[in-house]
Amino acid sequence: MTTVEFDNVTKVYGDDTVALDDVSVEIPEGEFVVLLGPSGAGKSTFLRVLNGLTSPSAGSVEIGGRAVEGNRGEVGMVFQEHYLVENLSAYGNALTGALSRNGFLRSLAGGHDEEDKRAALDALDTVGLLDDAGQRAGSMSGGQKQRVGIARALVQQPELVLADEPVASLDPKAARDVMGYLKRAADEHDLTTITSLHQVNIAREFGDRFLGVKDGRLVFDGREDDLTMDV
Ligand code: ADP
Ligand code: ADP
Repeated sequence: MTTVEFDNVTKVYGDDTVALDDVSVEIPEGEFVVLLGPSGAGKSTFLRVLNGLTSPSAGSVEIGGRAVEGNRGEVGMVFQEHYLVENLSAYGNALTGALSRNGFLRSLAGGHDEEDKRAALDALDTVGLLDDAGQRAGSMSGGQKQRVGIARALVQQPELVLADEPVASLDPKAARDVMGYLKRAADEHDLTTITSLHQVNIAREFGDRFLGVKDGRLVFDGREDDLTMDV
């Protein structure tokens, strides 16, 4: 049960940078939500209060009815920069997703079990990279690297996936490709997904629901039919 709930969430950095301003929103399980808005609007902060990288100054954030702190292992992250280990294979990188699930100590003690290995291969299959599992990450294209990043997040067995501008550094074709795999991953694994995006046309193609953020406020919440170009 992974309903995401923001209840009057405000985040102020320093003395006066209001990054989120009284945001309330509920996201039901399984929804694929796209966050839209100009640079500096508060999109990254929205995602960071969900993964516990920062805490709200006021209000509460819950995942599946529990405060964020109790949910760390169940949130998978996909970043704009892939943060892969360049010298590891796609498979080796996907497997690192198991570290956050098992805990570092168990991983040191026992290494990866068969379940982890199967999960890594399944995840690479989901993102269309099973045949490239042995390829060194450093030699992959930008789009392939992002797909490995999605696979790594899947290996965490998350209920919620957060993606912060996952395709911002890709050309339009690779961007659509990667978004397609993110959507497929969400569908196959029944994941609630929240992704920030710059490109409204790509958002339209993949999102179930769109949240427009501006100056820290939620200024739009709707479906494709209501989506205008100037959110
Ligand atoms: P977006 O992801 O939409 O570009 P952010 O959430 O990164 O927006 O930023 C929202 C506002 O908060 C901006 O004014 C930004 O400069 C500011 N901000 C973001 N992170 C920090 C931080 N760690 N410390 C201070 N200000 C920050
Ligand atoms: P927090 O106050 O939420 O703990 P930090 O100050 O630790 O956040 O910063 C977290 C990240 O945000 C860092 O990567 C930092 O470089 C970045 N950051 C800091 N200040 C800003 C800012 N004004 N705008 C955007 N990002 C910022």
